[in-house]
Amino acid sequence: MENVIILGTGIAGCTAAIYTARANLSPLLISGPEDGGQLTLTTDVENFPGFPEGVQGPALVEMCKKQAEKFGARFKVDIANSFRKITGGFELELISGEKIQAKTAIISTGASARWLGIPSEEKYKGRGVTTCAVCDGALFKGKEVVVIGGGDSAMEEATFLTKFASKVTIIHRKDTFRASKIMQEKVLHNPTISVMWDSEVVEILGDGKRVTGVKLHHVKTSKIMEFKTDGVFLAIGHVPNTSIFKGVVDMNEQGYLKTDRFMKTNIPGVFAAGDVQDIRYRQAITAAGTGCQAAMEVEKYLAEQGE
Ligand code: NDP
Repeated sequence: MENVIILGTGIAGCTAAIYTARANLSPLLISGPEDGGQLTLTTDVENFPGFPEGVQGPALVEMCKKQAEKFGARFKVDIANSFRKITGGFELELISGEKIQAKTAIISTGASARWLGIPSEEKYKGRGVTTCAVCDGALFKGKEVVVIGGGDSAMEEATFLTKFASKVTIIHRKDTFRASKIMQEKVLHNPTISVMWDSEVVEILGDGKRVTGVKLHHVKTSKIMEFKTDGVFLAIGHVPNTSIFKGVVDMNEQGYLKTDRFMKTNIPGVFAAGDVQDIRYRQAITAAGTGCQAAMEVEKYLAEQGE
């Protein structure tokens, strides 16, 4: 039986791995479908302490992984399919069929991009509709694109896309952004970016093969209009990756795992860290911080069990 299994290899999971590995617990990490987590989908991270010039998201998480490996953490690329309580611990079943038993678990499965949920979006997924500017931006060289959302992600994606697109339009359902002031300023001063306020995308338009535009509903006037575009980048937040824990670990109505201030879930020996349980901060540094807390609590829990 493993001492500790860590689900997810984002910055929360990797930080938990560094701490549990240094405590000689030889943690085993399961990557999940997005190995490295959300940082692998970003570019410049300008607010992680210790990097005055900023650091690339993928490089940051890679360095964190290497650091954990140096102390004995083991990484497995696989996806957990089920999670259940057994005597003395927990059992995970992976999609490869393998079963792993552990005395404790740190759930750091993070959150994934939210989609609009309109039928035309599904039809044009990967054919002009995407949630990742870093992954797909280069495909839109010289083209016109829209970014949907008003948070930091939308600002970041829009700014990044100006490297490729000839015109970027942010479509937001309100008349103000919720993004941080510094990121808003970057966008509002960028001549390649314009903003359409108070507008909701109600349909993705296309020629059957590719996106050609979006249909918009103006929330104040109720007017419907069509807007020509080659690409639609969704940046409308995230949903926590918690489906396999339903009915086992307590979660709120949005699916975020409930933790106390010691990162404990309702089940003794199961801790959660990072975006999977964070409804408020959702920063790389807070994810790392809660990963550290969860790891230290695992060590304490095992000591209390006489392990
Ligand atoms: P947020 O939840 O902050 O913002 C989501 C945006 O999408 C909101 O403007 C919201 O609108 C809009 N939205 C949500 N659902 C819909 C919908 N169905 N249709 C249209 N619009 C919708 O998510 P982010 O991903 O932007 O940010 C998450 C966290 O990550 C934040 O804490 C942020 O600060 C952080 N972050 C930090 C970065 C950095 O510092 N470098 C970079 C990226 C993210 P409304 O405002 O109306 O609710």
